[in-house]
Amino acid sequence: MTRFSKQYWIEQQQQLNMPRQAWINGEYVDASDGATYDTINPATGATLTATTACSTDDVDRAVGAAKATFASGVWADQSPAERKAVLKKLAMLILQQRETFALMESLNVGKPVMDCYNIDIPGAAGCFEWYAEAIDKLYGEVAPTNSANIATITREPVGVVAAIVPWNFPLDIAAWKLAPALISGNSVILKPAEQSPMTALKLAELAKEAGLPDGVLNVVTGYGDVVGKALGLHMDVDCVAFTGSTAVGKLFMSYSAQSNMKQVWPETGGKSPNLIFADCDLEAAVEHAALGIFFNQGEVCSANSRILVEKSIYDVFVEKFVAKAKAMAVGDPLDPTTQVGALVDANHAANVRSHIRTAINQGAELLTGGLGDESSCLVEPTVFGKVSTDLAIAQDEVFGPVAAVMAFENEEEAISIANDSIYGLAASVWTLNINRAYRVSRRLRAGTVSVNAMDAIDYSVPFGGYKQSGFGRDLSLHAIDKFTQLKTTWITLG
Ligand code: NAD
Repeated sequence: MTRFSKQYWIEQQQQLNMPRQAWINGEYVDASDGATYDTINPATGATLTATTACSTDDVDRAVGAAKATFASGVWADQSPAERKAVLKKLAMLILQQRETFALMESLNVGKPVMDCYNIDIPGAAGCFEWYAEAIDKLYGEVAPTNSANIATITREPVGVVAAIVPWNFPLDIAAWKLAPALISGNSVILKPAEQSPMTALKLAELAKEAGLPDGVLNVVTGYGDVVGKALGLHMDVDCVAFTGSTAVGKLFMSYSAQSNMKQVWPETGGKSPNLIFADCDLEAAVEHAALGIFFNQGEVCSANSRILVEKSIYDVFVEKFVAKAKAMAVGDPLDPTTQVGALVDANHAANVRSHIRTAINQGAELLTGGLGDESSCLVEPTVFGKVSTDLAIAQDEVFGPVAAVMAFENEEEAISIANDSIYGLAASVWTLNINRAYRVSRRLRAGTVSVNAMDAIDYSVPFGGYKQSGFGRDLSLHAIDKFTQLKTTWITLG
């Protein structure tokens, strides 16, 4: 048996200890009313565990613990170097348990286990490591006053942060929020999506082992409209760092307005364009266009779901792209050869199929894929051709493996189609002409433009959107801005 065969992962699953209780003040706890909900494996429909369904009372407990530890200074007053040591140890512990995390993530949300092992889990560990290494190299400022005064400008933690995250990259996106928030000295309440609680809970357990004081990181599991809403409305939460849909991001802004004007940083949806010019490296463009929409079952906020192709190469591109889509291995997430696993749950699979159905009804040309077996959470890579901008499939976020291919005549039309969206998270441009690459990139209304690359992302560069894809940025040193506030201290010398 090879180390990573399907059988290997099945045997690992039999020994897996699945966390199911919330994590408050350094220990696993049940909900105050004992409520639970079933956590399901979308690939099989089997119940994995009964997870604690927190109530508003439990949210109060978690916020109380976070507030008390923040006020005590047990974490916030440690030196950056001391906090760095804890997060570096956490990164190491995550890597030591890489297989466990990968298996949990795959069982929980249906993504291929080898993607979890190769991408998600080292990605999360690397994020903690990156911020740990950065924090003791950041300095404050001294203002240019006259010699009778000294004014310092320092960064202070915001206080109690609620991190609300989605299910598509549960551990990674949690790390994107937690690493900069914790390293800056805040206390945090993490709310995973109801579908994907397991790795968040395991992470909290390891953070304690790494030396994080009790109460600094709490994980409240349960439903968005109960737990998420209670955090959004809480008077003792100072900041919400949210990733999820645009609709729920807007709700958090209204929760803030109804309560204490807490800072809200929404990272929300996308409908990202991929502009393919005739002067590109066509083979590379096809390869990356397929990854750009089918990786992670298309459940990627920055997925290149609109593929804009110059008319002169439209037919040849479509022929190669459809062949790639048909060749993708769709199936059991525990099979190491699988490239496209299961969508996160039956509701989401039905939702993705309703987008496909609407596109068919509106007359889009179905080139491959489609509705498939409607009782399954597996959806085949699906490609629609000759899509016009007025169709729903050209405008609505599907969040599944569904590409809308559109033709354009010239650069001006390509830019106009690309910017014709309420979203502005990311975009890609394929051309070997450096002048065109830069000219077009400057005019695209998107937070990240990848040139001759797919969905470029790195700890060192900010990630976030324009327009209704949200504001504020994850990753890079700019993310520290969300979790700190500027303090001016003005001293008049005697
Ligand atoms: P979602 O908005 O339904 O849920 C996100 C989080 O909000 C979850 O934790 C959920 O429990 C909570 N929530 C849901 N309803 C709530 C309510 N009424 N009040 C308070 N909290 C509530 O999103 P999802 O389905 O988990 O994720 C998919 C969406 O996330 C897509 O739109 C995708 O584009 C977006 N996303 C964005 C980024 C980014 O960086 N911009 C990254 C990943 C995913």
